Amino acid sequence: MFIDSHCHLDFVDFNSDLDDVIVRAYAEKIQSFIVPSTTYVSWDKVRQLALERSSVRAAYGIHPYFLAQEKYASLDELEAFSELNKALAIGEIGLDYWPGSVNYEIQKRFLIRQLDIAQNLKLPVILHARKSYDELAGILKKFSVQGIVHAFTGSEVQAKRFIEQGFLLGIGGSVTYPRAQKVRRMLKNLADKDFVLETDSPDMPLSGFQGQRNEPAHLAKVAAIVAEIREQDISKIADYTSVNIVKLFNNWN
Ligand SMILES: [Zn+2]
Repeated sequence: MFIDSHCHLDFVDFNSDLDDVIVRAYAEKIQSFIVPSTTYVSWDKVRQLALERSSVRAAYGIHPYFLAQEKYASLDELEAFSELNKALAIGEIGLDYWPGSVNYEIQKRFLIRQLDIAQNLKLPVILHARKSYDELAGILKKFSVQGIVHAFTGSEVQAKRFIEQGFLLGIGGSVTYPRAQKVRRMLKNLADKDFVLETDSPDMPLSGFQGQRNEPAHLAKVAAIVAEIREQDISKIADYTSVNIVKLFNNWN
């Protein structure tokens, strides 16, 4: 059995057929779904999904990519909301330094406040990072938090740094591209205990599926490629990546 450690099942992309999406995932042995929030208004939808489906686990936070529409004051509610609704984690939070993204200082302010909340609540974090791995690792050093660096595509040196700070690396669709040599080599050299699988649905289509909506059932295809790269049995990968999640989220049950 697999866990999709990162999928946005609350996005409008799934409004019309979420039941079918979940049935297809179960058929591929994906049994649980971690759904991180992205915006303040999404918290309630993610909360509803988790209430309706025991297979869905919710995280609450504000994603750096969407900050242009967000108010810093919304974070005043994050701690109480997460506690009341038994959040699995704080997320999705981080730094997105893609060209055209929101001012870096504003991003850091939102990130630091949310790391503070995670630390207070003793909850792990689900991190988003684009072109910002080194700066993110530097900020994390000042906090006593663990979590997942989702959709990790950094170097082996950057991977080691996050792992030493108590983080798991989220491995998804990028490893399915034969040309992604650097990330495939990094994956080959990771220890079993250091990574988890994800789809980032509806985003991050797998090789061969470009332009299509991604969905959790495709996690099985990611796992098959991971098995090939690491020369391991796919059932062994299902076992240890699930154990990694249960160990990280001490409130998983
Ligand atoms: Zn995401």
